[in-house]
Formats: sequence, structure tokens, C-alpha cells
Amino acid sequence: MKVLKFGGTSVGSADRMRDVANLIQNGDRKIVVLSAMSGTTNKLVQIAETLYQNKNEDANVLIDALHDNYKQVVESLYTTPEKKKQANELIAHHFDNIRAYTQDLFTIHEERAILAQGELLSTALFQFFLEEQGIASVLLPALNFMKIDENEEPDASYIARNIALELEKYPETNLFITQGYICRNAFGEIDNLKRGGSDYSASLIGAAVAATEIQIWTDIDGMHNNDPRIVKNTHPIAELSFDEAAELAYFGAKILHPSSVLPAKQKNIPVRLLNTMQPEAKGTIIKSQTIGGGIKAVAAKEGITAIKIKSGRMLLAYGFLRSVFEVFERYKTPIDMITTSEVAVSLTIDNDKFLNEIVAELKEFGQVEVDKEQTIICVVGDFIAEKSGASLKVFEALQDVPMRMISYGGSTNNISLLINTTDKVTALTKLNEGIF
Ligand code: ADP
Ligand code: ASP
Ligand code: MG
Repeated sequence: MKVLKFGGTSVGSADRMRDVANLIQNGDRKIVVLSAMSGTTNKLVQIAETLYQNKNEDANVLIDALHDNYKQVVESLYTTPEKKKQANELIAHHFDNIRAYTQDLFTIHEERAILAQGELLSTALFQFFLEEQGIASVLLPALNFMKIDENEEPDASYIARNIALELEKYPETNLFITQGYICRNAFGEIDNLKRGGSDYSASLIGAAVAATEIQIWTDIDGMHNNDPRIVKNTHPIAELSFDEAAELAYFGAKILHPSSVLPAKQKNIPVRLLNTMQPEAKGTIIKSQTIGGGIKAVAAKEGITAIKIKSGRMLLAYGFLRSVFEVFERYKTPIDMITTSEVAVSLTIDNDKFLNEIVAELKEFGQVEVDKEQTIICVVGDFIAEKSGASLKVFEALQDVPMRMISYGGSTNNISLLINTTDKVTALTKLNEGIF
């Protein structure tokens, strides 16, 4: 079994959906995971924001406009009047559902139900298209097997058990379609895997069915060595290890959801990044063993907050760091980077929801300084022997960029630097010129 995920742009129009239908037609048994059509989730987010502000009339205008877009998709995707009618009824049903949420109190539950509509729409429309083309396939509802627990972590054994139950119903079927991004939470309510989460769905499903390969089809020919949205002259990387890909995804390479590499790594399933617009391009293969050392890529993650705790109690003492970390643990706030000196420790977080509470508790240890709007620049590669002087190249390239923290040696494939977000574009550009 293979798992193929197609992102928003890849299913973003009737033409694109036709291309996807062509790409998935060979004998292999496969599960095809689809995102919402591009732009849809952003629109649904906007509708939800408008409803939170009680601007229900504005929300209805947005809903009608999105409904109109889908009517056009229906018009151009299908040829027979029967399928057009069936598809128009389907989208009307989904948009009536969304409109119903403008009537009552609007809470996070309604918001999540609205956000789920994008993937429900794209998969149902695609399934109708396959039916019209006479291509045998089954639509599997992700809400029947995709689940997160009370800590918002995927429940891997539940997912494996329930997807197996779904697949058992169709022993003769070779092609399955399902929704990315959406899931149920610990209370059985509709929820999601956060923005960009369809990649995560694909790897969780891949791990659950012990797939031979997970393919992430998107709008670019693989993982590039730098952020193509910011820097010119980037190029695709042929091979990455799971750890290298995980670092890049976590530290800002938008092509992969931050958590999406782990399930594949745990089951040792290769992940291939491919371009729907250029299917013959080699893309990137992510697997356990790869060729080549040295620096492979850089990525940047914005929205970072740095916290420095200066304390005399740290000097020659043990147990100090544990007490610091326990504060973050109490507020379920992950730490990304950490550097220490004998009298101070600096660390970074990207979720500052409990920043005030955390700082208040840390003040009991000493002086606390907070810097917001920081960016982590992550340089990824194979630095085992440091033969190539990778760190030297990095620091030379960045000689004019002030650095707040430097972290090296935590693993053999990462150098992380903390800079002001205002220096991000300069840093990525200088690194591109200096190290590749
Ligand atoms: P999809 O909708 O298919 O999930 P995304 O927009 O989420 O696609 O991810 C693909 C985009 O990621 C690319 O168009 C590119 O602009 C962006 N991107 C950011 N960093 C990288 C990188 N290092 N390599 C490739 N793409 C990247
Ligand atoms: N549709 C969702 C989003 O836009 C999930 C995804 O595309 O991966 O975030
Ligand atoms: Mg994405």
C-alpha cells in the first residue's frame, strides 16, 4: 500500500483535479489524502473570525462568495448533468451547514466544524469525478479513524485499528480517497491537526497501514536548500535523512507540516516529495540512510520568544535547570533552543500563550529578560566530523547579522541561531550566497 497526499494547489481547480486523477491511476493499492482546494481553509478561517466578531451579515457575504466559487468548480469539473446536479446538491449541503453556524452562539466547536468543510468538499467532489470517469474508488471518512487524544497528540493505535476496520470492508478496492487535516478529538468532536496538517495525516495513515512509501505531492519539486519564497536561486535536495527533514520541517520549511516526519521515521517508511505540476521531476526522498555530508539546507522559524534567566543560584549548583524546565512543563510549553553559561540560561519558545505565567514563576529564580519577535535560523546537514568547517562558513556568511543565541552539537545535523526577525531575510540571503 502507498499513501499519496495532494496539497491545496494540487487540487486547486477542476484542471488540477483531472491531473491528480491521471497521476493516481496505476495498479498499486493506494490511499489518496487530499487537502482542501487552495484558498478554501483561509476563507473558512476568515468566516470564523467574522462570526466571532458577531458580524453575521459579513459572514454570509463571504459564505455566498465561496459557495459561488464551488458552483464554478462543479460546472467545469463534470460533464454529465446528473453529476453536476449531484455535486451541486452536495456543495449546497455543506454551505447550508456553514450558514447554520451564523444563527447561534459561535464557539471553538463551531469554528472547528467550519474548518473541516474544505477537506470534506474537496474529497467528495474528487470522488464524484472518479465516479464520472468510471474509475473505481472508495471515499473513506477520516473522521471514522483519525483521532487525537487529550494532549492533542495523534492516537496511533486507535488510528491503526480503525483504518484497518475501514479497509477490511473493501478487500477488492485498490483506490481509497480520504481527507487530510481533519480528525476527532478526545471528546469525539470534530477537530484538526493544525494548519498544513494534511501532510501529518498522510504520514500518520502511512504509519498506520505500514505503507511502502508516503508521497507528498505539492507545487514545488521537493525540499529546497533555502526558502524559495524569500531567496532566489534555491535548488531541490535529492536526499534527506528523516532527522534532517524533521529539523527543516520543524524550523520553518513550509513544504512539510512540522510533525509530519516522525510517524514515517518511526516505521522507517520513505517519504517522497513530488511536484504535481512537474511529475517527472525527481523531487526529494526522505529515508534513514542518505548520501553526502556538509550543509544541505537552511530554514527559518519566526514568532520565537527568547527568555533569559540570570541567577546566582545557578553557580556551582545542581537541580537548577530542572526547576526551570518544570515551569515550562507545568504550562505545557515546549522549549526549542537552549544555551547556558555559569550564571544564566537562555531558552526559546514559540508558543507564548502562558508567557506571563511562566515569567512570573521564573522570577522566583532570579532576573528574567524577555525578547519577542525573534527568529530561529536552522542550518541542517551532516556535520559529524566537522571536516568541511561548516560552522565557520555559517559564521562568515552571517558576520553582519547580530546573533542572540547559538546552538551547536545538540545533534550532528543542526546548527541553530537566534536572530531578530527584522534580520531574517538578510540572514537567509547571506547564507545562500555564503554556503551553497
Ligand atoms: P501544499 O498546499 O501542497 O501543502 P504548501 O504551500 O503547504 O503546499 O507547501 C509548499 C510550499 O512550501 C512551496 O510552494 C514553497 O513556497 C514553500 N516552501 C518553504 N520552504 C521551502 C523549502 N525549503 N523547500 C520547498 N518549499 C518550501
Ligand atoms: N487545508 C489545511 C490548511 O490549509 C490543511 C492542509 O492544507 O494541509 O491548512
Ligand atoms: Mg502544506
